[in-house]
Amino acid sequence: MKTIGIIGGMSWESSAAYYRLINQHAKSRLGGHHNARSLMVTVDFAPIEAAQRAGDWDGLGYQLAAAASQLERGGAHIVLLATNTMHRVHEAIEKAIAVPFLHIADPTGTALQVAGVEKVALLGTRYTMEQDFYIGRLQNKFGLDVLVPDEAQRGDVHRIIYDELCHGDIRAASRDVYRGIIDVLAARGAQAVILGCTEIGLLIQPEDAVLPLFDTAALHAQAAVDWSIDTK
Ligand code: GLU
Repeated sequence: MKTIGIIGGMSWESSAAYYRLINQHAKSRLGGHHNARSLMVTVDFAPIEAAQRAGDWDGLGYQLAAAASQLERGGAHIVLLATNTMHRVHEAIEKAIAVPFLHIADPTGTALQVAGVEKVALLGTRYTMEQDFYIGRLQNKFGLDVLVPDEAQRGDVHRIIYDELCHGDIRAASRDVYRGIIDVLAARGAQAVILGCTEIGLLIQPEDAVLPLFDTAALHAQAAVDWSIDTK
């Protein structure tokens, strides 16, 4: 079994979920007392979040490339970045390491193709929903037609992520807000929803939505474990 390296801390609430998802999947694959071999480098989210707001993507790329190198030097055979938003700087990370980098959008894109979904809704931070780095990959690599909520609803999705979910604050009222947004996206023709932020799975589960949910954190974690077990 290969060692999975995780760049975590964005936020640590979702990194804790990743740790559980990775080990649960390794146990489901291998049984007994098995768990995944892993390393995590946890960055401090406060300066990262401030740099996002300042638009300092070059500085962020530099910091996360350093974290990826640290994982490689520590023995990681593959590197995961446990946040969708920070995939804005995935090229800086990939350039810094010789081991593979597993892009978070790819296992989800593949799962959507397998499920025969063509038109999909995307929920995530404003950066993920409004910039091209994420939607462009889903369109170009997987041929998906991607819908996002309208301006006011994107604001609600973003605010709930940063002001509540990143602090581990899970509110029923916010779950209802997400449910309402998913209802609108379903009426606009979406066949499924991408949980394109690693904290959203802390708030909503399949039974909360009228559409099938594709949780990027869970699919990313599972794909990494499958790679670590299946790669000889
Ligand atoms: N974890 C989130 C994501 O998947 C948002 C926090 C961040 O900005 O990294 O996009």
